[in-house]
Amino acid sequence: TMRESYASENDSGFKCLKPELRPIVIVGGHGQLGGLFCRLFELSGYQVRKLGSQDWDRADELLADAGMVVVSVPINITETIIAKLGNLPDDCILADLTSVKSGPLQAMLEVHRGPVVGLHPMFGPDIASLAKQVVAYCDGRMPESYQWLLEQIQIWGATLNRISAIEHDEGMTLIQALRHFTSFVYGVHLAEEDPKLEQLLSLSSPIYRLELAMVGRLFAQDAQLYADIIMSSPQNLAMIKRFHQRFGEAIAVLDSQDKETFKQAFGRVESWFGDYAQHFLTESQGLLRQANDSTHR
Ligand code: NAD
Repeated sequence: TMRESYASENDSGFKCLKPELRPIVIVGGHGQLGGLFCRLFELSGYQVRKLGSQDWDRADELLADAGMVVVSVPINITETIIAKLGNLPDDCILADLTSVKSGPLQAMLEVHRGPVVGLHPMFGPDIASLAKQVVAYCDGRMPESYQWLLEQIQIWGATLNRISAIEHDEGMTLIQALRHFTSFVYGVHLAEEDPKLEQLLSLSSPIYRLELAMVGRLFAQDAQLYADIIMSSPQNLAMIKRFHQRFGEAIAVLDSQDKETFKQAFGRVESWFGDYAQHFLTESQGLLRQANDSTHR
């Protein structure tokens, strides 16, 4: 478990940067990501309370003396939940862990007068440690009062990346929505075609096995989370539709057996990637060597 792996890394947990902080309340703290952050804060010596879906009748009591409130509930109800947080102490930090940033950040700024910060951990609850993981953050209000939090996250091992909520959400259209959507459709296609998975794997080079793993791992996770991420904004759908249109254009090239046009497009993409094309070839060779060493079974 997370706790054991941290305990073995560091018996006394993590350094606490704000020992005087009043209790941290994690709304959705019984969930996957909320639970992970509860453990991280507890291992760092903070007093942590969970506010779950059954706890709203005693929310006033849980929130009255909160030093920080962190919202980590399903995306589709996040803004509704944030709107219930109008009674926090003025100096309380209000933060969230939502995978989309503009809507929740706006909602937090509207409901609370004190410090506000949006966080997006770019990882799921299945990681063994935060080392090398990225947390994107969006400044909301009074950044000086939550610098310690950003530093605390770095003590856990993560790298921070400051970004505006709008740029974040634009980036996520490609990084999350389109990528998860293509994995989803690839999975649907495989299930419909129904090949023998064992046989595919036995014929697979390490890179194909890795590709199957990247697709298959999606379906070991929460369907609601991915539905919410993919459908979180109209710009996601617009991007996915442009992608679909490009599929159509590429298929027309195949239909007419037009290898010249194919090669021209190939060349345009190659020059768009520039030096990264060669760099990615080398980098993926290294990753594949590692994957190959660890996936024999
Ligand atoms: P989850 O379903 O595991 O956890 C959500 C929790 O919220 C559950 O415990 C649920 O009972 C609780 N909840 C539901 N309604 C509530 C209510 N009215 N009041 C209080 N609690 C309520 O989901 P998760 O995967 O932990 O996702 C939580 C947040 O983390 C989302 O905003 C998601 O975008 C973000 N996030 C998740 C991941 C991931 O990979 N899981 C990664 C990055 C960010």
